[in-house]
Amino acid sequence: MPTTSAAPRLSQRLAMARPSATGAMSEAARRLADAGQPVISLSEGELDFDTPAHIQLAAIHAMTAGQTRYTSVAGTPQLKAAIARKLARDNGLHYDDAQIIAGTGAKQMLFNALLATVDAGDEVVVTAPYWVSYSDMVHIAGGTPVLVTATPADDFKLTPASLRAALTPRTRWLMLNSPCNPSGALYSADELRALAEVLRDCPEVLVLSDEIYEEIVFDGEFVSFAQAVPEMFGRTLTVNGVSKAYAMTGWRLGYAAGPAWLIKAMALLQSQSTSNPSAISQAGAVAALDGPQDFLDGWRARLRVRRDLALSVLADAAPVLTMRCPPAAFYLYADCGAALGMRTPDGTRLETDTDFAMYLLNAAHVAVVPGSAFGLAPYVRLAYALSDERLRAACERIVMACAALERA
Ligand code: PMP
Repeated sequence: MPTTSAAPRLSQRLAMARPSATGAMSEAARRLADAGQPVISLSEGELDFDTPAHIQLAAIHAMTAGQTRYTSVAGTPQLKAAIARKLARDNGLHYDDAQIIAGTGAKQMLFNALLATVDAGDEVVVTAPYWVSYSDMVHIAGGTPVLVTATPADDFKLTPASLRAALTPRTRWLMLNSPCNPSGALYSADELRALAEVLRDCPEVLVLSDEIYEEIVFDGEFVSFAQAVPEMFGRTLTVNGVSKAYAMTGWRLGYAAGPAWLIKAMALLQSQSTSNPSAISQAGAVAALDGPQDFLDGWRARLRVRRDLALSVLADAAPVLTMRCPPAAFYLYADCGAALGMRTPDGTRLETDTDFAMYLLNAAHVAVVPGSAFGLAPYVRLAYALSDERLRAACERIVMACAALERA
């Protein structure tokens, strides 16, 4: 007997959300690699280094010592104390236990904060280019992302004037991300103060400061938003995690610190969804935050070499592909506007940055992410956290692919 079933119906909440574009490109690259093609991926937002041994051992010890059960939803007292020490030591920020929550990645912290505070019609100011998930998370929460485009002339940073123009009585949040994925933009203390000045007259606007790339700074100095602007402490949610700093993306451990009312609401949401982050990852995170930090200098030095290597090889891809030297994070945000309108060797005309990214994947077997995913086209984002040899090979292939394009 034929079965009947209703057409699938998804919630309104999901209607505006798109699957992660970085994930889509990784998936296409994986398919090519599975088919035997020598694909090099510059699309992954993670370090290729191993999680340091002292962190691994702390997690093993936690397992063998029986730390394999549920913990408090917002994290163990040990982890929350380690997070408080880190924020005091590195950022001069003093939070108590009720002002801190740990969760399954910084991603969950952002999601919980938005879901806990955003209603239909509420607006969230997001600077483009932004990390792919920002606008979709706002949509899922029922809000409206108000996108402000930052230009290369402003080093891809939000300016006070454009912030002022974006604010309305419905603005609930300003989302800040310094250092920024994908542009590598790093805000100085003065720049943060100038943005805060604009918010002075809007006391109901909260600030979400995503500081996940704090440790990956090459030129200039990182400063935490609430540290730069102490009077904003009471309405700032500082978000960070161990993923990028300690090569722990798979451990899924992030944290947030902010006003107790907000942390309590985020914990309520978490208690009804994932509960505590993995107990074992929490033990690893304590070791990461409390343990030696000196190896990070070595990692930064290696990443700087890679950034400079990529920039020097890719200089030969100009004028098709041009880019600035980013001061922080491990991405290049490259302008591919000159490639649009050109033809590939098989005669296809490139119309968008997604076409250009697909061309690089198919012709050069290099995976990158189109800038349209980050809200600013036509660009491509190249993540350079892979071995020097593979990075050089990928950049050389990109140069060749750019040279093979012909004016239409
Ligand atoms: N914020 C930004 C800007 C990111 O790039 C990422 C990861 N790509 C995250 C947050 C989430 O990090 P995680 O969930 O791994 O802690």
